Amino acid sequence: MDHARLIESLVRRGIIKTEKVRRAAERVKRELFVPERYKEVAYEDIPLPIGDDQTISAPHMVFIMNEVLDLEEGQLVLEVGSGSGYHAATIAEIVAPSDSQPSRWGAVITVEINPRLASLAFENLSKAGYSSRVHVVNADGSSGLPLRRKVDRIVVTAAAPQIPPPLIEMLADGGKLVIPVGSPGFWGQDLLLVEKRGNNIIKKHITEVAFVPLRGRYGWS
Ligand code: SAH
Repeated sequence: MDHARLIESLVRRGIIKTEKVRRAAERVKRELFVPERYKEVAYEDIPLPIGDDQTISAPHMVFIMNEVLDLEEGQLVLEVGSGSGYHAATIAEIVAPSDSQPSRWGAVITVEINPRLASLAFENLSKAGYSSRVHVVNADGSSGLPLRRKVDRIVVTAAAPQIPPPLIEMLADGGKLVIPVGSPGFWGQDLLLVEKRGNNIIKKHITEVAFVPLRGRYGWS
């Protein structure tokens, strides 16, 4: 499969629903984020190994999450689990599109607990042209980050035992969090959409998923 056909099939399958998610999918070359030996299969709809038992998620999972996140230009988004940096780049293309004024840009802050993968994400994002829109931090994202402002959206790309309280704390009023919650073993995980409205936290089940386990303080030990 090539890039255009992958996107066409994701649209046909009803996974890519909106123009903004589609345009971002078209602009980010997944081949720049997969290891050299997987370049040939970069546009198959499958996860691929990136070392240390971690994977770059399958394209359909990235775009299911981007649709649910309800992203807009100008937003500040936190990603927990940078991995290859690919998902962060697809979010950056919506909150800070390549063809828009940098003065209107939002930003993505992506946190990665594994130092080698944090460097990998940084290198991939730099080579692909996202270094001014995506900031990579090597830390435990389950504990949140000490930012000066609240964030509009949070996406967690590893399965958590529970919704980490520091992430709810970091969300702005009206903010949304998308997170897989469930077992660490690739089964029995639910993708949840969590909305913060004043003091209310509204949770919605989206679909069943299979993610690698979240580590760190509010992850699996
Ligand atoms: N979004 C990535 C795929 C992520 S795989 C991509 O587009 O390629 C999940 C990642 O979460 C792994 O890289 C893993 O090291 C990282 N991770 C696990 N627990 C974490 C934590 N507590 N904080 C930050 N990153 C974490």
